[in-house]
Amino acid sequence: MMIPIRCFSCGKPVGHLWEDYEKETKKGTKTDTIFKKMGLDRYCCRRMLLSHRDYIDQVIAYDVKS
Ligand SMILES: [Zn+2]
Repeated sequence: MMIPIRCFSCGKPVGHLWEDYEKETKKGTKTDTIFKKMGLDRYCCRRMLLSHRDYIDQVIAYDVKS
């Protein structure tokens, strides 16, 4: 769905990093390099981006009309 605004474990804001992360991964930049550039040192914050999949566009097709 949508990336959470903050890390679930430590509370660091990570939501604003998603678009840059996606852009860099598409360019083929190594994930470790991206995280270092973004200042994500803790693995709890890194997993927020690593485990996220943006599938809102597929889910929204099944919206229930009332
Ligand atoms: Zn964290």
